[in-house]
Amino acid sequence: TVPGSPVNPSKGNMKKTDGTARPEIEVRGLHKSFGDNQVLRGIDLEIAPGEVVCVIGPSGSGKSTLLRCVNLLETPTAGQVFVGGSEVTHPDVDIDAVRRRIGMVFQQFNLFPHLSVTENLTLPQRRVLGRDKAQAAQIAAENLQRVGLSDKAGAYPSSLSGGQQQRVAIARALAMGPEVMLFDEPTSALDPELVGDVLAVMRMLADDGMTMMVVTHEMTFAREVADRVVFMDGGVIVEQGTPDQVIGNPQHDRTRHFLSRVL
Ligand code: ADP
Ligand code: MG
Repeated sequence: TVPGSPVNPSKGNMKKTDGTARPEIEVRGLHKSFGDNQVLRGIDLEIAPGEVVCVIGPSGSGKSTLLRCVNLLETPTAGQVFVGGSEVTHPDVDIDAVRRRIGMVFQQFNLFPHLSVTENLTLPQRRVLGRDKAQAAQIAAENLQRVGLSDKAGAYPSSLSGGQQQRVAIARALAMGPEVMLFDEPTSALDPELVGDVLAVMRMLADDGMTMMVVTHEMTFAREVADRVVFMDGGVIVEQGTPDQVIGNPQHDRTRHFLSRVL
């Protein structure tokens, strides 16, 4: 594990990095370039089972690219990524099998507009996992209940608020039974009054022990929910630590400058 791997002492939940558990996500020497643009310049990161890591940093620093390399939406230029102990960057890997283990939630919810909420949850279960209709419907119902939207099962996305649509997107990802969840600015497209409901669902997932990697500008969420905060700039991790360390007492000018603009 990461030396001195931090545990947020304000949280009673001690499932975290204790130096024994195998990391759930491990990134080693990750580089990613687009042409001449070196976007990731050597990222090393370990996330323990059940750990919640918030990734913060200025626009263009490579946060989305890092997440996208973890679930192979981008192919790293160099380096390795392991999920649950198996190397997902191995040349022989089954990319679809990897993606099944990793749930991803984007800023844009990407729901199918012509399908009901339930159908949005059942279709990928049936297509990707081969579940039968009844089982997929049962799992859809359970996960809609988890995000507090049982009453919207028959609704179409266009009739829902942005916050409700994002909660459906989270439920859709959860219905696939992922080992880890990646969130890329899940509340950035929402009206301010709708952000809280989505963050509440993410907080519940964290409390349930889900391993989560969350790119966010929501510093209150990071402070209260993250076990660890990672600050990225220019394609490197500039500093990381507990929320109190990184947000409350940043050590680097670049972190201080960033925080002065978002806090
Ligand atoms: P962040 O999420 O921190 O804002 P990104 O990872 O989205 O940063 O982008 C970092 C850099 O990578 C930017 O300069 C962006 O233009 C570039 N980039 C990201 N995705 C692509 C792509 N598919 N093709 C070319 N350049 C890209
Ligand atoms: Mg981004």
